[in-house]
Amino acid sequence: MKRALKTAFVCQQCGHAAPRWLGQCPACDAWGTLVEEAVADARIRPTTPIASSATQPLATVTATPEMRRSTGVGELDRVLGGGLVQGSIVLLGGDPGIGKSTLALQACGALAGQGLPVLYVAGEESPEQVRLRADRLGLGDSGILVLPETTAESVIEQIERVKPCAVVVDSIQTLHTTALASAPGSVGQVRESAALLVTRCKASQTACFLIGHVTKEGALAGPRVLEHLVDTVLYFEGDGAHALRVLRAVKNRFGSTNEVGVFEMGDRGLAEVGNPSAAFLAERPAGAPGSAVLATLEGSRPVLVEIQALVSRSALAMPRRTPIGLDLGRTALLLAILEKRCGVRLHDQDVFLNVAGGLRIDEPAADLAVIASVASSARGKALPDDVVLWGEVGLTGEVRSVARADVRAREAARQGFARCILPAGNARGLVVDDATRVHGVATVADLFDVLRLS
Ligand SMILES: [Zn+2]
Repeated sequence: MKRALKTAFVCQQCGHAAPRWLGQCPACDAWGTLVEEAVADARIRPTTPIASSATQPLATVTATPEMRRSTGVGELDRVLGGGLVQGSIVLLGGDPGIGKSTLALQACGALAGQGLPVLYVAGEESPEQVRLRADRLGLGDSGILVLPETTAESVIEQIERVKPCAVVVDSIQTLHTTALASAPGSVGQVRESAALLVTRCKASQTACFLIGHVTKEGALAGPRVLEHLVDTVLYFEGDGAHALRVLRAVKNRFGSTNEVGVFEMGDRGLAEVGNPSAAFLAERPAGAPGSAVLATLEGSRPVLVEIQALVSRSALAMPRRTPIGLDLGRTALLLAILEKRCGVRLHDQDVFLNVAGGLRIDEPAADLAVIASVASSARGKALPDDVVLWGEVGLTGEVRSVARADVRAREAARQGFARCILPAGNARGLVVDDATRVHGVATVADLFDVLRLS
């Protein structure tokens, strides 16, 4: 007789287990934290003793490099750390419609093109829809095996039969296991079915892509609960209105998390962008107030992006502060510095900021460009077209050094900019080339002098 797996609803905050679902945890009073989980029956003793490992001197341990395979998509290989590792589990997250399925299908097509068996598990779309997408990408005849299935057990059965070198599950939210009674897409189902799949793929050395949707609210049924289960977590960013997409590793057991891939979405799928700076600056208006060019670092790669600001008289008692692609708290701080240290009147003005191209920038090195763009818009004076800025600004208006000034300056020179405005601490001893000059600034007041914004 087949033993039905026992399940329990376990609080994700305190670990309290209840036999049925409850809205509030009786132990810690948290709401909505109970998730169905399969539990091992304590009465059934394992028949084989648990294998224990022996100690060995570290010096005698020999490391063999992982088996890597190119996915045929250079930017994806770069983010993975130099190719797809055999038996590794990659979680590919991002907003719906951003291009996750397209990227996975392109990688599948390239692997299948090398004559390797690749399995595409379609839980969201029918095989016909997958075929249409593949046709658009020119991969219709590439030999990818498609499986319309949403039960984890059946997927595992097919993996054992087909023995693919890579499997794509699109998406993990549609997968469910018969062991749990809760609905597909719930946290318990997603985690349990992913765990089953991960165990199977690890055992058979099959590389696996799990596609997961991130909801706009950021609170998600899926990807976050899987992060500890998988080897690599990639997030696909960008907004639907722009063609540019950034692929970022937030966890990578087989490489650095410092690499990003840049893609452009087109009719024939995702194209790799070899020169991201040029792509991000392609539509920059000439001579418009409120536009500043920032040299930022995306991972280890320097990228030039345009920061746009619009300052306009507010009709509201609480003027708006709307930064898109920048941190709200950091923006409020920089506006306060501008008002206090530079005498730019902003308390009755709406301030809108945008990173052109849909990129998100978290590093403080963006401060100087944000300040320059806001001041430029407030004063109605355009910044010179040939200037690139970067630097962190402190509360007293001092400009602080940031990492990798040489890399940023070289990228500015490569893109044909004649002047770099950067922290004085970075400028000392920095030589770029004959065509590009560097101006070190120690305070925001110096910045205003150099750009004649006072
Ligand atoms: Zn609890």
